[in-house]
This record gives sequence, C-alpha cells and structure tokens, in this order.
Amino acid sequence: MPMVFDEIKNDSYEQIIYCHDPKVGLKAIIAVHSTVLGPAVGGCRMWHYHDENEALTDVLRLSKGMTYKAAVANLKWGGGKSVIIGDPHKDKTPELLHRFGEFVERLGGNYITAKDVGIGAEDLREIKTNTHHILGIEGESNSSGDPSPATAWGVYHGMKSAVKAGFGSESLKGIRVALQGLGSVSHSLLGHLVKEGAVVTGCDVEKEAIDRARNEYGIEIVSPEAIYDVDCDVFSPSALGAVINKETIPRIKAKVIAGAANNQLATEQDGKVLHEKGVIYAPDYVINGGGLINIYHEKMVQGGYNHDDAFKHVAEIHQTMDQIIDRSKRDNIPTFIIADHIAEERVEAGRK
Ligand code: NAD
Repeated sequence: MPMVFDEIKNDSYEQIIYCHDPKVGLKAIIAVHSTVLGPAVGGCRMWHYHDENEALTDVLRLSKGMTYKAAVANLKWGGGKSVIIGDPHKDKTPELLHRFGEFVERLGGNYITAKDVGIGAEDLREIKTNTHHILGIEGESNSSGDPSPATAWGVYHGMKSAVKAGFGSESLKGIRVALQGLGSVSHSLLGHLVKEGAVVTGCDVEKEAIDRARNEYGIEIVSPEAIYDVDCDVFSPSALGAVINKETIPRIKAKVIAGAANNQLATEQDGKVLHEKGVIYAPDYVINGGGLINIYHEKMVQGGYNHDDAFKHVAEIHQTMDQIIDRSKRDNIPTFIIADHIAEERVEAGRK
C-alpha cells in the first residue's frame, strides 16, 4: 500500500486525487503540486506502471517539475500532472477517457490537463467531452498545435545564451554541435542550427529519423554510443533522460550542454561536477519550456493564440538563461541549482 503522506512529507503538494471506476477500468492519479501562481497545468500520461507506488512516484515527480518549469518561465501557472495506469495500446477506451475527463472537471479548473506520453490528440478530444479544463488539442481552433517547434525554438535560444557565456558570442556559426536524438524537437532544432551555420553531428536509434536529418540537412551521423565522444563545442541531449552521468561526463568534450530532453542529469552530483569542470549546463526544464510557454498563449493571453506572439515569448528563454548564468557565475553555484532558486523565489513571492 503506497504511503502517500510519507512520500510527500518534505514537500508541499496541495492535493492528490485517486480516480477510480472499475466499470470502465479507470485507475488514475492526479497530483496538484502547486496553485500558488495559477492553475496547476500538466499533461496526462498513460503508462503500464508495475504498481500504484510507481505511478504515484512518477506523478509526484512530474507535477513538481511542472511547478518549477512554469515558475522559471514566469508564467501565471502552477504545476500538476496526471497518470492513468494502463497500457495505452490495450487498455485505452473512450469510456475510460470520458470518465477521466469527469474527474478533471470536478477539480473546477484547479488542474488543467494536456497531452503527455501515451495520450494523443484523439484521446484529448475524448477527455474534452467531459471537461473544459484541457489544452493543446491539435487541429482545433485556438490550438497552439504541435509543441515540438516551440520547444525547439526555446532550446535554440537557450543554447545561444549558453554559447555566448562559453565562447564570447552568441552566434552559432561554426559551432560544433553533437545532437543526441533526431526526433520531433531535434528535427526542428536542426533547421535553426544549420541555418545559422552550426556544424552538427547527430545520432538516433531509428533509421527513419537518421535518413530525414541526413537527407534534409546533410549532417554527419555517428552511432548512438559514439555521440559522447564527438569532438564538439555543444552537447545537446535531446532524446533521453539521465544521459549526463559519471560514465558520460569524462567523455563529453563540450563546453556547453544544452538540449531538449527532460531530467538530463542522472544525479545532482553530476550537475555539480559539470560546474566544477567549467561546463555551462543549460538546465533542462528552463530551455525545454518552449512548448509550455506556447500552450500558455491558448488560454492566458488576451485575444487567444497568436503564433508570432507566442514564439516571441518563447525566445525570452534566452534572457532567462542569461540571468541564470550570470547568477551562477556571481555566486559560484551550479546553473541547475540557480534555476531551482529562481522558481522557488517566484512561488514564495506568490504565496506572500
Ligand atoms: P521524439 O520521440 O520525437 O524523439 C526522440 C528521438 O530520440 C527519437 O527519434 C528516438 O528514436 C531517439 N532515441 C531514442 N533512444 C535514443 C538513443 N539511445 N540515442 C539516440 N537517439 C535515441 O521526442 P521529442 O518530442 O523530439 O522529444 C525529445 C526529448 O525532449 C524527450 O526527452 C522529451 O521528453 C523532451 N521534451 C519534448 C518536448 C516536446 O515539445 N516534444 C517538450 C519538452 C521536453
């Protein structure tokens, strides 16, 4: 039996809701980490967790991460997340999604849901039949569409800030980038990098992704394992989490690490080691926040979604990164800790 209060004793989660309906096979958990700055926003993930404990741990971690991501981007949003326990390929039915929508609706807008792993645009449409508190449904009017181009735009601007700190100029012309993963975000990012004259080496485990990058941009490809050894200025983890760890850090030659993936540091200690080595690490949730900023314009901006305004806002990740790097240098504290401090200060100011 998961001990919920034990799990959250050192943190100020506001509400954890267990949603259960055996008739439709629904077992879900919604975590509202914080509504101090605004409604708790975060996607719904459907995953075949081994047990409830694993699902609880995931939803707690993810919802807290959303509070930090929204706060560091200076949005008037808090952090939340939901997980549906089940195999998205076998257990998903319209009835289950409708019922989940009812639970979201009952929270009266304290939690706003969106897409995450295992939940697609069609599923969101089903959930929406029973709730108003949902965002990011591609193809609908006022939709901000696929988040990947916005995420890539933010990573690009965050990378430029880090490159300026590392090499004295924010221009990416001639900068050698090792790009891990050539999926949706990376493909968009590649367009910006190549246009500015960066020299990119990429890798992926999918032939289709490799072919697309090679055919469209003519980049050099290495094996997934060799990406850590590429002689480069920027290492861009844009596929998987925990890739910055004690095995990979000695191999990575880059002065800057800036990529789209979530939870790039395997441990906090790895972030501290990067700082000691003088590597400029762009905290993941800061530079991959473009998708969240983009979706914010669906709901929180007068007049509804406007692509140009949203992308201008996303580009402000550059200034956020400048601030983080300046404070990191001034106080001699790793960038990932500074990012946490900024987010925590904003939530605390909101609470007061
Ligand atoms: P994606 O699934 O489209 O792309 C990921 C790519 O990584 C795939 O092409 C996959 O084949 C490849 N990959 C998997 N294992 C690999 C390995 N060992 N080595 C190299 N490549 C490998 O996902 P995406 O939407 O482009 O997201 C990329 C990363 O950014 C993910 O970590 C995601 O959580 C994060 N992220 C994405 C968004 C977004 O808007 N899509 C927002 C925030 C964060």
